[in-house]
Formats: sequence, structure tokens, C-alpha cells
Amino acid sequence: MRGLLALTALLVAVLGKETFEGHQVLRITAQDEVQLALIKDLEDMVEFELDFWRGVTDVATPVDIRVPFHSLQSVKIHLESLQIEYSIMIQDLQAMLDEEQEEMESAARLAEPRNTDSFDFSRYHPINEIYSFQDMLVAENPNLVSKIVIGQSYQGRPLNVLKFSTGGTDRPAIWIDTGIHSREWVTQASGTWFAKKIATDYGRESAITAILNKMDIFVEIVTNPDGFYYTHTSNRMWRKTRKPNPGTSCVGVDPNRNWDAGFGGAGASGNPCSETYRGSRAHSESEVKSIVDFVKSHGNFKAFVSIHSYSQMLLYPYGYTRTPVKDQTELHNLAQKAITDLASLYGTRYRYGSIINTIYQASGGTIDWTYNQGIKYSYTFELRDTGRYGFILPANQIIPTARETWLALMAIMDHTSKNTY
Ligand SMILES: [Zn+2]
Repeated sequence: MRGLLALTALLVAVLGKETFEGHQVLRITAQDEVQLALIKDLEDMVEFELDFWRGVTDVATPVDIRVPFHSLQSVKIHLESLQIEYSIMIQDLQAMLDEEQEEMESAARLAEPRNTDSFDFSRYHPINEIYSFQDMLVAENPNLVSKIVIGQSYQGRPLNVLKFSTGGTDRPAIWIDTGIHSREWVTQASGTWFAKKIATDYGRESAITAILNKMDIFVEIVTNPDGFYYTHTSNRMWRKTRKPNPGTSCVGVDPNRNWDAGFGGAGASGNPCSETYRGSRAHSESEVKSIVDFVKSHGNFKAFVSIHSYSQMLLYPYGYTRTPVKDQTELHNLAQKAITDLASLYGTRYRYGSIINTIYQASGGTIDWTYNQGIKYSYTFELRDTGRYGFILPANQIIPTARETWLALMAIMDHTSKNTY
């Protein structure tokens, strides 16, 4: 194992990019609770080096796992010996990544956009292009949009937040972040589209105009910039931050397990090599701490929306405890309205509910912390799809995804604005 890891590291160093040749994504379905527990046991079988794209929820919900080529046969034999059913969702991950890469490169050959109107929202963009998009949007809309740098990533990249404001001081505010998990590319792409949409619609479309005449909107598009950069340059499947963990070669913390809300509880890992490693302490990651400090010093956030992919869900707190939030009924009804609006465009179906009841127990999550700070309208999205492409959602689905999600966001922002006095 050590030899294999060393070889992989060497190949990455030489070739620059980790390949996923022969990796498959298996969709595993439990028939009963016993099988579900057996599938959960796979999390601890570190020799397989499995990557849970969609973790264990309940018997009704399949589990998606990326299986490296070296353990593919063993995992299949293991599942068959337990009579657990699986299907192959992605036959050859690298082939899909090659296609994605080819599309990006053909887009990159076009001239660089000189303004946000010529920015191609139907493509995935590397971090420098998103950063220049942000600067162009600010330059084009000086009376509406400004850029705030709330901190620096571990590797020193600016943590940029776009502020949409029509004036006033200490206005109540709405927060939207995308890309805290770096490999969830459709989220940063959607965040970029949302930013343009807000700037375009203000003054032209009555609902967003009314919101912006009363509240400010903050959008952090690249919430985990080191991870995002790494997904473009070295490992497309990177999820965590890029801070080294002392005493191990495993890098990074899951920034959605690092918040001071049930920190260290069930549904997060204490193992630095895990994809859900919580970190050495709450807010150990500057990408998280910078938001914490910003939210606290601002003091007037009314809604906080943190956007992930995939699996098509709209979730509210809590994740770390079964105790329902005191606003459960209101948050539930608003979620239902939001996903109904979302579905009205293309029929995309979402599930909704509290995190712990809809996915699984997860401690140290973003919106549990924001809710406990008094931000009532705290939501997490899991965007498209339900696993056909998973994290490698084709670029031609970016705009449809952003458009339908915008309807749900508008439902949440509109309700927040109408219930803010
Ligand atoms: Zn995520």
C-alpha cells in the first residue's frame, strides 16, 4: 500500500495530474438494514481506498462509491459474497474526465472575455478566470457590486466575496457560498451565473429589486480556492482544503465538518486521511474561520445558503442532532416552496428536509453553525444530478442547473426579505 501511494505520488509529480484510469463509480443498493450496515463497514476498509461520492443514508437511497482500479475486483467480489446489489454508474472515470478536459481546452482557445457579457457561463473555468470575472463585474457595476477580501486561504489566495448593495448602512443581509467542496464544479459555475444574474436583474426585475432595496447580498463563489486550484491542476476529485496535517502525509480538512456546531461528534472523522476529516479543532481552516469572523462582525445576516453538489436536495439544520430546530415548520414549508419553484422550469425533482433526516448525521457543518448564530434561514443545496455524472456534470448542464436553482434561491430570498423588519 505504502509503495502504491508512493508510486502514485511520484506519477503525480512527474505527469502533473492524477489519473483515474479504470476507476469506476459503483452504485450500491441495500435491501435491508443489515446490508446497509455492511455497506457502511466499507468506510473503514482503508485498503480499498474508496471515495464515497454519496454516503450511506437509508435503505431507500443508493450509495455511490468511486473504486480505484487496484481494488475494483476485490470490492466486487466482496459485495457479491455478501449478496449486495450494485450497478456500474461510471464505467471509466478517466474517459469522462478526458472529455471534460477537452471541452475546457477548446473553450480556453477562444479569446478571453473582456466583459461579463461575453463570459461563457456554459463552460467550466479555472480560478483565475473566475477571479477576473469578479473584477469585471465590479468594474461594470460600481454602484451595485463591490469585492471584499475576507481573508486568505492556507496557500495565500484571497477569499473574495462579492457584495451587492444599493446603499444604506448595516442593512440586513443574505449570504450565498459555492464551492466549499472544491470538486463540486457545477456549484462555482452556478455561483458565477448567480452573480451576473443579480447584477443584470437589479432595476429590471421587481422581486430582486425589492430585495436589494432592503437587503445586501453577499456571494462567495470560490469558497475553497486552494482545493479548487488543485482540482484543475492535480486531482479533479479533490474535496478538502489543502492544509497539511502534522504527523501524516494526508492533506486537508473537510471544510463542511470544521464548524463549531457539534464539532467532533458523529458524522465526521478524526482521521486526517478521511474525506470527512473534521480538523484538529473547530475553525482550524482559514477558509472557514474567515467566514465565521465576517458573519460575526457583520452581525445582521438573515439568510445563509451554502451550495454543494450532487444529489438534488434542499436541506435545513440540524445535521449533528436529531433535535428539530425551533423554526422547523417554517423552514420545511419554505423548502417545499423553493423546490416546487425549482421544478417548475425543467421538472428537476428535489428531496428536502433536515440534514440528519434527509441524508445522514453530519457534525461540524456550515448551516448548523449559522443557524445557531441566529441566522434563521440557513439552507444547504445539493445541486444536480442524482449520480449519472455525479461531480463530473457535463458543462452543458451548468446554465439549466443555475437557472432552476435561481428560482429556489429567489423563493428563499423573497421570503427572508418579507420576514425581515
Ligand atoms: Zn459538498
